[in-house]
Amino acid sequence: MSPPTYPALSYELYPPRNAEAEDSLWTTIRRLEGTRPDFVSVTYGAAGSNQETAIDLLRRLLTETTLKPLAHLTCVGTSRADLTEIVDRLIGGGVRGILALRGDAPEGRESRPGDVEHADELVRLIREVEAQRVAQLAAGKVSVGVAAYATRHPDSPSFDQDIEVLLAKEVAGADFAITQVFFQASDYSRLVTRARQAGVTIPIIPGVMPMTSTRRLKKLSGLAGIDVDEALWGRLEGARTDEERRRIGVEATVDLARAALDDGAPGLHLYTFNEHSAALDVLDALELERPPEAGLAASM
Ligand code: FAD
Repeated sequence: MSPPTYPALSYELYPPRNAEAEDSLWTTIRRLEGTRPDFVSVTYGAAGSNQETAIDLLRRLLTETTLKPLAHLTCVGTSRADLTEIVDRLIGGGVRGILALRGDAPEGRESRPGDVEHADELVRLIREVEAQRVAQLAAGKVSVGVAAYATRHPDSPSFDQDIEVLLAKEVAGADFAITQVFFQASDYSRLVTRARQAGVTIPIIPGVMPMTSTRRLKKLSGLAGIDVDEALWGRLEGARTDEERRRIGVEATVDLARAALDDGAPGLHLYTFNEHSAALDVLDALELERPPEAGLAASM
């Protein structure tokens, strides 16, 4: 009899900007830890703007919690030598999961000769550093994730290019992909179908944002260049109380997540914005089956 399989569960956190934010983040971390996620990811400012706070959070997650951290790493505006050093530092510090990203160049920052330009190149670099480190430290394998897009990336000429790029990242050595936020289940479904047709075999985990804050939805959809569903937007804006808005947002998020899971998604990655309550409301309503014991890391 084959063992039961459970959907993977993970959360995104970002490094705190001050001491007050750090306290509130740690309340969130403890609440999320109770749901036994497979990993929690820690974002990284493009061009390394918050490198030390990110590394400190990763260190604390490794030493003070039962959680497995996935370190985001961006390559934009960064040389091969600097990236090699940071990957070496992450692996040396015990991190065994890295999300290899390009990032978006800060305004006015041009790339210089020798900078790593795209995520597929960063995946290759991580694999090279890993090969040296594994021999030195007898360290375990590093899981490498990459970004995927259910709607066209704003810099891409076409959705087809995004699919080719995803395949290139897998060929470079990626183990799994996490999607950018999306607001239509059919977009996730189309991404997976087209990726499989193109030969992509790695798991493509849907990244889902609890849609409870109109301010945040507006900001993120602007940044990612994705339109929020108009009907949902109208219902959120028309809510008479915060409680009503929250209920509408949680219901819409649950519907989106459930549709992706019903469509065969291997799990869910929840964008928490360092707040646990909306993420936990979504999880409660989803009644996601979780393994009885901690640590069923899908690929880490
Ligand atoms: P790439 O895969 O390099 O693609 C970027 C663009 O270049 C695309 O248009 C692609 O088609 C094109 N392209 C890719 N490879 C090539 C190639 N070899 N030749 C020519 N063109 C190519 N940003 C942060 O700053 N910090 C974070 O922590 C962070 N976390 C994220 C987590 C997730 C799950 C996702 C989905 C995104 C995250 N981002 C983060 C945002 C991400 O950095 C941006 O979306 C960025 O614009 C693209 O990153 P990428 O890794 O997809 O880049």
